[in-house]
Amino acid sequence: KGAIVWFRRDLRLADHRALRAACDGAARSDGPVWPVFIRDAWVDDLGAAAKQRLEAALEKLSQALEEKGSRLILRSGTSGAVLEQLASETGSAEVHWHRLYDPESRKRDEGVKSALKGRGLGAESHAGQLLNEPWTVETNQGGFYKVYTPFWKAVREREQGDHLNAPGKIPAPDHWPETERLEAWQLRAPMRRGAAIVAQYIHAGEDAARDRMHAFLNEDVDAYGEARDMVAVSGTSQLSDHLALGEISVRDVWNAGRQRMEEGKKGAEAFVKQLVWRDFAHHLMFHTPHILTDNWREGWDEFPWDEDERHDNIKAWKQGRTGIALVDAAMREMYVTGRMHNRARMVAASYLTKHLRVHWRVGLKWFEDCLTDWDPANNAMGWQWVAGSGPDASPYFRVFNPDTQAEKFDPKGSYRRRWIAEGQRNPPDTALSFFEAMPESWALAPGDARPAPIVGLKEGREAALAAYQGLKS
Ligand code: FAD
Repeated sequence: KGAIVWFRRDLRLADHRALRAACDGAARSDGPVWPVFIRDAWVDDLGAAAKQRLEAALEKLSQALEEKGSRLILRSGTSGAVLEQLASETGSAEVHWHRLYDPESRKRDEGVKSALKGRGLGAESHAGQLLNEPWTVETNQGGFYKVYTPFWKAVREREQGDHLNAPGKIPAPDHWPETERLEAWQLRAPMRRGAAIVAQYIHAGEDAARDRMHAFLNEDVDAYGEARDMVAVSGTSQLSDHLALGEISVRDVWNAGRQRMEEGKKGAEAFVKQLVWRDFAHHLMFHTPHILTDNWREGWDEFPWDEDERHDNIKAWKQGRTGIALVDAAMREMYVTGRMHNRARMVAASYLTKHLRVHWRVGLKWFEDCLTDWDPANNAMGWQWVAGSGPDASPYFRVFNPDTQAEKFDPKGSYRRRWIAEGQRNPPDTALSFFEAMPESWALAPGDARPAPIVGLKEGREAALAAYQGLKS
């Protein structure tokens, strides 16, 4: 009797089709709902910041379930085995979850589904992580999209359906099965010293997500078109952490954004287009999963990338001491807050892959370890787009000049001063907090002199273009 709902990257109660289906299934059999989160390999493989962010999200989800008379059961192990065990302990007849689109999740979920069905249990996956599932958007020739603009045109008028309210009360069992303790999972441990600092920037949970969305759509969306590129300004929604863990449904964000468009708010269309970039990244990951690990475009394997993490250039980039102010500020912002402004991501990634000619995979992995909004599809598409090896990529010869970018998008230098202490008589706390967050082995101090550029902008650009010419010929 009853139904299990298996939470993964959908840590909310509202607009949750799997939870709704579990509640319906439980009502049919007059049984309870068993919410479970499983610490499987995907959790252990998360980067340090994403693990810390997940812990905060799970705390909030547990509280939210308790307010509905329910609980979050925590278990560790292989998902299939845990679900079978839980079903047999509870006598639950069915399991519901939301589909994910990365290759490992797809493989795991297919295995789980057939194993559960093999044992005579109901196993049903639901759409809920994206606006449009990857296979539902096809070109006229019946293939997948490799370019964003036609993808956007294909989906922009699609109706996303109505919001599902969170259940008023979730039917609970008389006796709860055993659960592990979240604190015992030690998800914060890999952050070591920086955990307390990054924690200040984390606003986890469904309520926080909804408040953030409303604040953005009520106050900032009008100016989004211009403000979104200004690195010192909070001109974007900052919903990416919430969307990465499904603390808010992307369909709710889309519907609210579309409503603002209809009300004639200027930046609303630019905003909903960003949500479609997220769908597009997942579309690409689904159809060409090698985007996560290998050059998406053919021919790029011959590019003379540096991929040796021991090299000083790579260390300097990670630590924000390349001597290029906008790049260094960006890297420090990410280290301290777990987030980086989108414009800054592009500039920092471009300097690494072009001026330093370091493989985008090195950057991708560092972002994976440092970002609280880490998302496999968005991160991989972002890196390959900047590097030039990806679909719909910026052409390789278009090399961002960090100084020109800084003049345009940080004209008063406030972003750079906010994050770089070296060279300032009275550095702000934001810049100083980097030194508290970093490991001691980096041996850096706020009073150090600003380094000279490790690779100058002109020299780096020329070397990058020469390497690209070599690749073409
Ligand atoms: P807003 O501008 O308010 O956009 C709203 C939402 O749209 C975002 O929350 C996000 O879900 C989505 N979105 C916006 N821009 C993009 C984009 N370019 N690609 C895909 N989706 C987008 N985003 C992540 O969520 N996780 C990552 O790991 C990630 N890694 C990136 C790495 C690189 C090298 C680059 C260039 C970009 C990366 N992005 C990533 C995309 C983008 O930088 C962030 O989504 C954005 O900065 C988040 O801020 P926001 O929520 O305020 O965005």
